[in-house]
Amino acid sequence: RDFKGAVDPDWCPGCGDFGVLNSLQRAVAGLGLQPHQILTVSGIGCSSNLPGYINTNGMHTLHGRSLAVATGAKLANHELTVVVTGGDGDGYGIGGNHFTHTARRNIDLTYIVMNNQIYGLTTGQISPTSRDGMKTKSTPFGSVETPINPITSAIMNGASFVARGYSGDVRHLTSLMEQAIQHKGFALVDVFSPCVTFNLDNTHNFFKDRVVKLEDEEHDTSDWKLACEKAMAWGDTIYTGVFFQVPDAPVLNRREPVLDDGGPLAFRKLGLSEDQAQGIIRRMM
Ligand code: SF4
Repeated sequence: RDFKGAVDPDWCPGCGDFGVLNSLQRAVAGLGLQPHQILTVSGIGCSSNLPGYINTNGMHTLHGRSLAVATGAKLANHELTVVVTGGDGDGYGIGGNHFTHTARRNIDLTYIVMNNQIYGLTTGQISPTSRDGMKTKSTPFGSVETPINPITSAIMNGASFVARGYSGDVRHLTSLMEQAIQHKGFALVDVFSPCVTFNLDNTHNFFKDRVVKLEDEEHDTSDWKLACEKAMAWGDTIYTGVFFQVPDAPVLNRREPVLDDGGPLAFRKLGLSEDQAQGIIRRMM
């Protein structure tokens, strides 16, 4: 099935986000999903333009609010496959609050964060994941802030599937996305997706030389302490892969009886008579 959108991306040539879009299109096609079964939701930023470039239902929402909108959509229609896409500034900065609470509620969403460790759309200021000492337009003497670690944060907040990919390895990233979408519960896929225009520290070459797949080593995805230890590695070795998973963690839209009785809210009758319904429609027109 063709998931190519009607509009071509206007990202800078070489932007890591191309690899993420490509991987997502392959993942949903590989899982046999149809465009109408998927909702792609984003916030604001270069990467948040992604729903415009993929052939699914899509919503481009407010800065940092994509997870809140996606939660509403999933609760209203839990038959939808809901994929949220965005960047590190949008998701871990402005949307940090929603990141915490969506993880602890274990809403059945897949959250793909194109983590380029900088604000790209606003032309190069430090983001929550920029490294200590990084010189940018907003930090000419180097960042004095400690970056957050999305992997350990997600695990501590209660996420039940936590992975990291690299946009330059499309085959591996596609596999991580497939696993995340199939997982029942909140699934984070944090992706190193280099901003080739404004982040000249964390480039494709930087990651190519360092990324090591967890699958190539012995790793126990049920061990949260080991997962955090490996997620903190930032040197000659930086791990990608599935760090942590709780396969059977209860998800909110399955625990809430009101949402399960009678099927998704989106398909239920409003309890109005035909006359009342027609009256509302007339007033709306
Ligand atoms: Fe990608 Fe950076 Fe260009 Fe934005 S500014 S499209 S993140 S390379």
